[in-house]
Amino acid sequence: MRPHARRCPHGGGPAVAGGEPRVAAVAARLRHDESVTLTLPEAALADLASLVRRGNVAVLSGAGISTESGIPDYRGPSGAFQRNHTPMTYQAFTRDQTARRRYWARSFLGWRMMSRANPNDGHRAVAQLQQNGLVRGIITQNVDGLHQAGGAADVIELHGSLDRVICLDCGDLTTRIELDDRLRGANPDFRHDTDPDTVNPDGDVDLAEELLDGFAVVDCVDCGGVLKPDVVFFGESVPKDRVADCHASVDRAESLLVLGSSLTVYSGRRFVMQATKLGIPVAIVNQGPTRSDDCAAVRLDAPLGPTLTALAAATA
Ligand SMILES: [Zn+2]
Repeated sequence: MRPHARRCPHGGGPAVAGGEPRVAAVAARLRHDESVTLTLPEAALADLASLVRRGNVAVLSGAGISTESGIPDYRGPSGAFQRNHTPMTYQAFTRDQTARRRYWARSFLGWRMMSRANPNDGHRAVAQLQQNGLVRGIITQNVDGLHQAGGAADVIELHGSLDRVICLDCGDLTTRIELDDRLRGANPDFRHDTDPDTVNPDGDVDLAEELLDGFAVVDCVDCGGVLKPDVVFFGESVPKDRVADCHASVDRAESLLVLGSSLTVYSGRRFVMQATKLGIPVAIVNQGPTRSDDCAAVRLDAPLGPTLTALAAATA
């Protein structure tokens, strides 16, 4: 172990009081990255509990919290990027009819798996922390609805939700269940076995091009316009008022707890930048490195479910 060789680029720094009683150790995979100080998991968990016990915690969660529910993340070991999966971009979706058909065909199959996914111990522990009055706001980059299914309230879905469908022409919002019924009606024979490991956090699955032929896309019932899942695609901006809500949530917080995000994209990382600028300590629980490890007051490279369960027990 070595002291920090790099500094947080946003001007923040590790600042967490120790001295809390040690809580149960969790299985953890220690990294050997010499640029980051690693604390033993038990000590880091105690530091995390100490921070969370102060209350008024804002949570920022990413795909890593849902992998234990069977939804691979983009960058994990079996994640989409390891399989050379290219996520749909807003530009391709809106400009290219073929790309749109490809998306809906793959998403039609992916939805079978997404709609069956259940919340895991990590989601339930976050809900528990909220019910115990410690977590105040939850911002999620996930579109799977599993925080709410796990009992959490007041969740800001930064990138939208797969549960909803929006018409790009008239703005009408409908449910995905309703759309799924229509897609099934239009494609009664479209069935393909898909590998659950190839479903992506955006509800898309990997499927050979030749299998996409013949899939019928349906349009808005009201105006015949183009339907899009109410999620933020790559290359698309998050609505300004939603970003403002997230910033307000971090503004009010006394700490920011990042769960299961590598913080690779600015969309989530900006809230870590905001917290460090405000001098709010940041804690990160994620398997594997994150782009903001140098800004973290507490850093755990550990599985989310057991870690958060232990955290909820330690702070109850
Ligand atoms: Zn419409």
